Amino acid sequence: MAKQKPKKVRKYGKGSRPCIRCGSYGPIIRRYNLYLCRHCFREVAKKLGFKKYE
Ligand SMILES: [Zn+2]
Repeated sequence: MAKQKPKKVRKYGKGSRPCIRCGSYGPIIRRYNLYLCRHCFREVAKKLGFKKYE
């Protein structure tokens, strides 16, 4: 087994995948099949009709 570690491959948690809207790695909300950071989710949620994310 080689001991090489992939640079950005994580199964979960921070950095698992970038926000699909702004591309930043961070806390990503995966609800509703959206992969958005909290900031983007708030904005998108308005458009989608969600009143508030808590
Ligand atoms: Zn974002």
